[in-house]
Amino acid sequence: MINLSNSEMERYDRQMRISGWGEEDQKKLKQSKVVIMGVGGLGCPASIYLGAAGIGNLVLVDKENSELSNLKRQILHWQKDIGKPKVLSAKEKIGELNPEIKVEALKTEITEQNIDELASGATVIVDAMDNFKVRFMINEVSVKRGIPFIHAAIYGFQGQMTTIVPGKGPCLKCIFPVAPPEAERFPVAGVTPGMLGILQAAEAIKLILGIGEPLIGRLLFFDLEDMTFITCEAKGDSNCPVCKEHRAKRKTDKKTAL
Ligand SMILES: [Zn+2]
Repeated sequence: MINLSNSEMERYDRQMRISGWGEEDQKKLKQSKVVIMGVGGLGCPASIYLGAAGIGNLVLVDKENSELSNLKRQILHWQKDIGKPKVLSAKEKIGELNPEIKVEALKTEITEQNIDELASGATVIVDAMDNFKVRFMINEVSVKRGIPFIHAAIYGFQGQMTTIVPGKGPCLKCIFPVAPPEAERFPVAGVTPGMLGILQAAEAIKLILGIGEPLIGRLLFFDLEDMTFITCEAKGDSNCPVCKEHRAKRKTDKKTAL
């Protein structure tokens, strides 16, 4: 059984005053592993807040080095980090903020071949990518292994988000059967992924602690230009090529268990 040190008790004191988030819950966070796929505009705020909150094992995955044009939104990469692997500059900042957690930095491309290994042992996956090719890979590994993941995407001042928990709601492929059109260098205001990454961190914490209502089967859209936030229902597709088979298998397992 793990314990919290005196410094951890002090560090996390104010959040452990939240209803449903006591010392035992903080230990749950310490024992959990969150894999953040992409350490850009979304992954930077998501990972720093998850690290600050005391997620015990953070895994950062990104293949790129930071560039000057990243700095206005990818806030863990600073002027001095230009040319450095993003996973390393992020790991350095998170480690300085909270030395009581473990941060693993994996500079690699996410592929069909390695995604299973990258997701291995994850309590939650944060989809902080900028393309649906990888998002669909995350979705498949999530459904296959039963790992919840939090999807987010941005454009300009607009953001969208949903939480996928296999067996409890639709998967990403149910909601988006085909990838929406994507431009290589699409416009984005730094504040948009900044806010969305923090919302992803909030969802990850809630899922681990079982607090509140996650965005399962719901899509959140917001537009910061006119400050509108809406959520709409996202239905499952009974013929979804990704989760149909697993849904059927879960039903069979349930029957067998009975
Ligand atoms: Zn599906």
